Amino acid sequence: MRLLIMGPQGVGKGTQAAILSQRYGIPHISTGDIFRYNLKNKTPLGIEAQAYIDKGELVPDSLTNEIVKDRLAMDDAKNGWILDGYPRNASQVEALDEILSQLDIKLDCAVALDAERDVLLERMKKRAEEEGRSDDTPEAIAKRLDVYEKETAPLLEKYEQRGQLARLDGTGEVEAVTESIVKALDERNN
Ligand code: AMP
Repeated sequence: MRLLIMGPQGVGKGTQAAILSQRYGIPHISTGDIFRYNLKNKTPLGIEAQAYIDKGELVPDSLTNEIVKDRLAMDDAKNGWILDGYPRNASQVEALDEILSQLDIKLDCAVALDAERDVLLERMKKRAEEEGRSDDTPEAIAKRLDVYEKETAPLLEKYEQRGQLARLDGTGEVEAVTESIVKALDERNN
């Protein structure tokens, strides 16, 4: 199973991706987690990406696309993956198309979760208190939601046109959202 999990920050992509990763036995690949790991360990990639991340801006495509290309070529990704937080703009969609074609694999589904902006802001505020991410400042949160609306949300239409999109409500209880995703995936496979 090869899935994208899409949607605005705070909608629960990471939580759902972690559950689905267990359920289907496939790695959860989050570009945000990869960047945070590199920030924490002060690698050259982390140092280069830090200013963008702290401001809530996208890290340049040249860096991000390389990371995804390398990660999807790893052994544990041979039988599937859930990609969380990528692609986030039109040129990343093109880069992903190219990576998939080079690996001779196809995407099964792009799962898009959605919720109202006030629900997202509330969840991000809570997460900021719990996790203390460097980009959970009010300015960076607002910027990230704006970037999502301008650059990422329009991508859903591309996947819809390709017949690969499952749009679902991300507002309910975690288990209920998981079940709705699993149901949508089952229906697509039948
Ligand atoms: P996330 O945890 O997915 O919200 O990502 C945290 C931050 O990492 C984002 O605000 C960006 O600065 C950076 N980032 C994550 N994924 C991408 C991506 N696909 N393209 C560019 N920047 C990204």
